[in-house]
Amino acid sequence: MTSALPSADIYYECNLTTDIKPLTTNDYAPMTDDKPIYDITPPISSDIKVWPGDTPSTREVLRDVQRGDASTTSVLHATVHLGAHADAPNHCDADAPSIGECDLDAYLGPCQVIHVHADRGARLLPDSLKTPVVAQRLLIATGAYPNPLEFNRDFAALSPELIESLRHRGVKLIGIDTPSVDPFEAEDLPAHRAALGHGIAILEGLVLDGVPEGMYELIALPLKLIGFEASPVRAILKRTSPQNSLR
Ligand SMILES: [Zn+2]
Repeated sequence: MTSALPSADIYYECNLTTDIKPLTTNDYAPMTDDKPIYDITPPISSDIKVWPGDTPSTREVLRDVQRGDASTTSVLHATVHLGAHADAPNHCDADAPSIGECDLDAYLGPCQVIHVHADRGARLLPDSLKTPVVAQRLLIATGAYPNPLEFNRDFAALSPELIESLRHRGVKLIGIDTPSVDPFEAEDLPAHRAALGHGIAILEGLVLDGVPEGMYELIALPLKLIGFEASPVRAILKRTSPQNSLR
């Protein structure tokens, strides 16, 4: 993914005029339990809901050891916007890079989880975030899409204004626990365009229930699908210690 964003090395300098504050130990996830990894990926099966009209997940078994074949092979049929997934710049712009051509840096590294209070159907604005943004990767837990097995169209989404303000803070990845960063009925996808058009990576369909606010290491690599406008990801958050750098 092309990006004109500041490098991590000059991140602080570029954001001195924003409300980014120095990290304290309170910015990190509580270290009081022993859960080292949060899997923030919903299970992929025929039960998971996809965007209405999109292709749900099915498995076609071609060969099967249970039928006496020497091995089992199967085919996955599904939209690439399946479960936890990354949107590529060519999702909204035909001339932009596909997911297989995106730089992986945004999908790997220190990441902040913020919980917001989001009414159903709300578009989050810059002042919706009550916790200061301190990292270049940000996952927003809205709680507005509680069950991946039931598609509720009134999920919360992001405003272009919020994405713009995060861009000025040096944010290079935004993730959300709903099927889209835009509201269900927003056909022009302004939040997608505000992010992807400026080199900000998008993760959607995350499961952030039970993940406390704080700092983690994100690992959510898309597949190297050339030409595709999205890819499923296996997204996890690893607990970090306050000694780790922000890069
Ligand atoms: Zn999307």
